[in-house]
Amino acid sequence: KEEDIKILLLENVNQTGKDILSQQGYQVESIKSSLPEDQLIEKIKDIHVLGIRSKTKLTSRVLSHAKNLIVVGCFCIGTNQVDLSYAAQHGICVFNSPFSNSRSVAELVIAEIITLARQLGDRNNEVHQGIWNKVSAKCWEIRGKTLGIIGYGHIGSQLSVLAESMGMDVIYYDVVNLMAMGNARQVPNLEALLSAADFVTCHVPELPETKNMIGVDQLNKMKNGSYLINASRGSVVDIPALIDASRAGKIAGAALDVYPAEPGGNGDYFTNDLNTWAEDLRSLKNVILTPHIGGSTEEAQSAIGIEVAEALVRYVNEGVTLGAVNMPEVTLRSLTTDEPNHARVVFIHQNVPGVLRKVNETLGDHNVDKQMSDSKGDVAYLMADISSVKEGEIADLYHELEKLEARILTRILY
Ligand code: NAD
Repeated sequence: KEEDIKILLLENVNQTGKDILSQQGYQVESIKSSLPEDQLIEKIKDIHVLGIRSKTKLTSRVLSHAKNLIVVGCFCIGTNQVDLSYAAQHGICVFNSPFSNSRSVAELVIAEIITLARQLGDRNNEVHQGIWNKVSAKCWEIRGKTLGIIGYGHIGSQLSVLAESMGMDVIYYDVVNLMAMGNARQVPNLEALLSAADFVTCHVPELPETKNMIGVDQLNKMKNGSYLINASRGSVVDIPALIDASRAGKIAGAALDVYPAEPGGNGDYFTNDLNTWAEDLRSLKNVILTPHIGGSTEEAQSAIGIEVAEALVRYVNEGVTLGAVNMPEVTLRSLTTDEPNHARVVFIHQNVPGVLRKVNETLGDHNVDKQMSDSKGDVAYLMADISSVKEGEIADLYHELEKLEARILTRILY
């Protein structure tokens, strides 16, 4: 029953998310901050759903105290704060919100392209200091310039459309072949992009292959007087190499939103204690430095609230795992709980041979209308809609499934 579902939301989850969960009739407790570990352990014992952002660390130790927890919603992009495999092994599904802020990042990059081309950061600093320095040398329109996008995913492709509408030519490089938006053109390799682009912007994920993807060699291959933008992950650009390229005049400007090490919170300083080159970077002309704000807009925050809360509701009410980060993605058509004698069986189990046969023997006395099953690593997720099941039979069915050795978690929704 909805009113039996206990939800704890930490770290001031956006109101949009709270509203969606409260409207379902769940019991929602919302706390503005994260909790110290001992208090979190106390609280996690009897809740069914936990909503967090990036500060709450859900280690295996913390999760081991959760007795009823079925799902965690990370109301943010990253999920490093959660021990994802421990959670999956214990039937706890984890959701996040990977794409709610793509538009915000794309718009920031558009702003940076013009800001770099017109040296707006420096002019703004100068006038703030009372200096009138009217220059047009090496200040450009962006019309007709070439934007090179590395990584044509959610952000890269959105940016492509915006840049083209401002008169830029767009080329992109991606490890997969992707359909071009508008008149954009995919190039076969990174070198082809670097040698042709006036502005190079990175939108790849943090991976071993993308570490220092833009280093000395790549900067050398860029056009003289071109610009570099990175609002993806701090590991992607070799910053000492960028500092050298900027000092040498090879690069006419750069915008960075992300860094290998970032301050822990607002008010902390961005100094050499954090990254040995921080002060050199800060001294450069026409280099825009922002504190990882690519996705920091009111719109993105409210979209995150909606996206994650809706995923939680779908999971609690219907067992649907679409968008889950640590479970296979399994869905069936809407659950027909309003029809009599229908139930949905959700069975999370170890991915070992022979389990499906045993499950189907258990379900066999009923009519299985639909069934879907998939695995991710050593955890598998099965969903079956059965009819001709009487309410009195549901407890038996549940206990039969719980007896199976490979079982991790059983839920029957009706
Ligand atoms: P996405 O997964 O939608 O797209 C990434 C693209 O990069 C994919 O098309 C993928 O095929 C491609 N790719 C992967 N490895 C590659 C490689 N070695 N070479 C070339 N292409 C490669 O991701 P997204 O949502 O567009 O996000 C892109 C980046 O932006 C991520 O690193 C994300 O963490 C970051 N991000 C930053 C902020 C911010 O606040 N600055 C906000 C959101 C996302």
